Amino acid sequence: MGGSTPRTTEIANIPDVSHRTKVFFAKNISRKKPHRPFSTLMFIDTHTHIYTDEFNDDRSEVVKRAMDAGAQRLLLPAIDEASLPALLDTCNQWPNLCRPMIGLHPTELPEEDFESTLKRFENLLSAPNNPFIAIGEVGIDLYWDTARRDDQIRAFNIQIQWAAKYHLPLIIHSRNAHREIVDTLLPYREKLHGGIFHCFGGTAEEAQELLAFQGFLLGIGGIVTFKKSTLPSVLAQCVPLERIVLETDAPYLAPTPHRGKRNEPAYIPLIVAKLAEIYQVTPEIIEAQTTANAQQLFGSKL
Ligand SMILES: [Zn+2]
Repeated sequence: MGGSTPRTTEIANIPDVSHRTKVFFAKNISRKKPHRPFSTLMFIDTHTHIYTDEFNDDRSEVVKRAMDAGAQRLLLPAIDEASLPALLDTCNQWPNLCRPMIGLHPTELPEEDFESTLKRFENLLSAPNNPFIAIGEVGIDLYWDTARRDDQIRAFNIQIQWAAKYHLPLIIHSRNAHREIVDTLLPYREKLHGGIFHCFGGTAEEAQELLAFQGFLLGIGGIVTFKKSTLPSVLAQCVPLERIVLETDAPYLAPTPHRGKRNEPAYIPLIVAKLAEIYQVTPEIIEAQTTANAQQLFGSKL
């Protein structure tokens, strides 16, 4: 911050950064921050992977449908190093809409030497004027992969420390790992700047334990619309509207009636409609409050 004129980036001098990433940084720095006032009746998809191959044939149409549906921002969590250039390209193509995050997903740890991948990520993150608005998505996944539990916890630890050091929100992926997530986060409790427990689908007890982390929100997506989901009653019982944000996790977890098909940000209103029913307010109130929640978490970087 500090108010001084932005320094020119040192990204060009960082080894192991792809050319496309360097081009993105160069363009991003020369561009003025867009000043578009937020209005209500619009939403933020806080977790969407529209940069992945699933959207290669029709990404522009997907983005157009998202904006027509009311998308104000699409926040793009990283998963691995290979897809980072595509993520940054997407943000570069829609600079008023898309925002990048950086992080190594727990199921995407390289077989060998994941720590050097993390080092390259941190080089990007520590570059002046880098575009990243959050650390994510990171965490622990013991559904797909139990063999590397210790590596996952180690990688999560390192990336939690980035969130504290660079004052960024932490976007957390947790699957079959509630206890491990809480135990790993606890020592950092006072040092963190909030975050999102993405794709929450747990019990009331788990929700309460997660919400005890100050400044953390629950990311609510398509699961809430599924027929047998217990999430509606958990939300009604113990999750204030001030503690949730909207997300798709596209291309995964499409809401009813698109369940099983490719998800996209334009489906957020289906999640909003279900939440309006659960919280017994209008869809407009759901959109306004979740937008305000996201604005508070991400601040001026949003
Ligand atoms: Zn995700």
